[in-house]
Formats: sequence, structure tokens, C-alpha cells
Amino acid sequence: MVSSEYERRIAARFATFDQDGNGYIDRADFSVAAKAVLAEFGTAARSDKGQSVYIGAEAFWQGMAGIADRDGDQRITREEFVNGAVKRLRDNPDRFAEIARPFLHAALAVADADGDGRATVEDTARVLKALGATEEAARTAAAALDTDADGKIGEPEILTAFARYFTVPE
Ligand code: CA
Ligand code: CA
Ligand code: CA
Repeated sequence: MVSSEYERRIAARFATFDQDGNGYIDRADFSVAAKAVLAEFGTAARSDKGQSVYIGAEAFWQGMAGIADRDGDQRITREEFVNGAVKRLRDNPDRFAEIARPFLHAALAVADADGDGRATVEDTARVLKALGATEEAARTAAAALDTDADGKIGEPEILTAFARYFTVPE
């Protein structure tokens, strides 16, 4: 038996990926995510940064599909997500960091106003909000990402946090 707390967490993770809320994860969800991040910061899709976000989102989708889309129908159902993505990524968080890195790197670059390779906690919260988090959840999560408490979020901090997101024990 799995705990209801575990199921709640899985449901929350699935909802994070199912950006358009149609009950399965597919390529369109990653496009929606890319578009939302760019819109939040007024970044043009055709700019270098914009293209990087779309390319990163496609790579992220391909990586997730490779891990979880068992029947190869280009859709990850909730069942495929739980039995494929969650279990395999929990066993191998580095693999998740690897497939998520291009998208996270590109999203961070969009949020990184002064080009120092890091984004402020506030701008990171805007990214999370664009991806569907509530204002409060986005602020809390962004603050928690700043593990060295310098007020800015760097790529290592984001990757560690995302990997940890999939390694919560049952
Ligand atoms: Ca969807
Ligand atoms: Ca499938
Ligand atoms: Ca920091």
C-alpha cells in the first residue's frame, strides 16, 4: 500500500507536467510551458533565448517520453508516469537532471536579467508562477531553491532541487 501523502505528491507532480490539464503529458504540455515562461518575461520566441527555451522543452519532452511512454503513443498517462517516470527517476536522479538541464538552463537564462548566470529569487518565482504554481507556492519554492542564501538561484541549485523533487521517499 502506498500512503495517501505519496499519492498526493505524485498527483502534484503529474499536474506540474500536464500543463494544459487534459489528463496526459505530451509534447504540447512542454510547448505550453516554454511559451508561458517566455510570455512572463516578454522574451520573443524567435530570439536566441526564446529558441533555446523551445529546444530545451523539446529535449525535456523527448527525455520524459523515452523514460515513461511505454506504449509509444506519444502520450504519458498518469499510470505511465507513476510506473515509469517517477520510479526510474527516483532510482536515478542524475538522469532527470540530464534531461531537464537544457530547459532549466534556458529558462534560467530568460529569467537572468543581468546575465550573471543566476536569477533572483523573485524572478525565479515568476518562472514557477508561469509554469502554474500559485503566487504563494512559487515564492516559497523559489526561496527554498536558494540553498546558499545569496538571494540568487543558480543552475546547480535548480538542478539539485528538481532531482530532489523526484526522490521523495514513499
Ligand atoms: Ca497535457
Ligand atoms: Ca503512452
Ligand atoms: Ca543562491
